[in-house]
Amino acid sequence: MNTRDLIGQSPLIAAMERILASGRVVHAYLFTGPAGAGKKTMSSLLAQALLCTSQGSRPCSLCSTCRQFEGGSHPDVFWIRRPEGKTGISVGQIRDLQAAIKVKPYQAGKRVCFIDNAHLMTQQAQNALLKTLEEPPSHTLFFLLAESTSALLPTILSRCQTFRIGALPQQMIIEILHRRLSISQEDAGMIAALSQGNPGKALALAEDEAFRSSREILLRSMSQAGSVRILDAYEVFADNRHRVEDLFHILQLWIRDLLVLKETGEWGLVINLDQAALLKKQVSYFTSEALKDMIEKIEDSRKMLKSNSNYQPTIENMLLSFQGGTMNAACSRSPV
Ligand SMILES: [Zn+2]
Repeated sequence: MNTRDLIGQSPLIAAMERILASGRVVHAYLFTGPAGAGKKTMSSLLAQALLCTSQGSRPCSLCSTCRQFEGGSHPDVFWIRRPEGKTGISVGQIRDLQAAIKVKPYQAGKRVCFIDNAHLMTQQAQNALLKTLEEPPSHTLFFLLAESTSALLPTILSRCQTFRIGALPQQMIIEILHRRLSISQEDAGMIAALSQGNPGKALALAEDEAFRSSREILLRSMSQAGSVRILDAYEVFADNRHRVEDLFHILQLWIRDLLVLKETGEWGLVINLDQAALLKKQVSYFTSEALKDMIEKIEDSRKMLKSNSNYQPTIENMLLSFQGGTMNAACSRSPV
């Protein structure tokens, strides 16, 4: 397999290579992992390798099958996706697929059907698909891509060989960022930490200027916890409600860095090196206890939102708690 660009996926690649070498191919594979983890990349690699007609290493990227696959024009490759504006994959889409795969593949060999976001299939869609998985047409392979298995019927799961794509170590994410983008060491380290081991997310964050400026406003607002800066922080939360988890994570990593600096003074352990000057300034503002309280408060707020607490008061209370009693006297004497 040509796996040059697939950093950190060696166990999965080894498992896939075993399938190719042994020829023991099942009818349905399920790739699970969060959005951006690499489900599409990894499942496509296996599918292409299984379709490839080369006698050597597969996929070869040279045979006509590989070229059609990579160009998105292979007539025996089907993609089922959630239609734009819809919340799920309908039974109608599965029935259309079933009708399409009744005929033989156009080219000799196999046909592959991808179901992206398979966890969004409705119950009826899953039941319809189950019938096909129970009696799969010859030459047809299914690749289900799902963020989690919890929304899938156990009977579907039992028909699939599952590959779980987990989080990558931070150093591998940094390597991926350096290979794909022109990015400083400091930025790469910070983005890798924020991505939580998800390469797709890391690449998206690295190129998301709006998100980077929101982060900066948020971190600067923390520098003067109190007065109007709390409003700045709230504005960031209000504008980025869809990615509140990322904002919590930004704050936690920031507070973690302040704690590290307070307790060890060791810059080599710091994540947010791109904002070293700001960290240096803020480290004298907070006591270790106050910082630990803030981390706890973030965790509480995260749990409250998960149990459907109202967004605005939850965030406001968290920010106000940062303000109340979190600052050293030295800082509270110099409001800006
Ligand atoms: Zn090939």
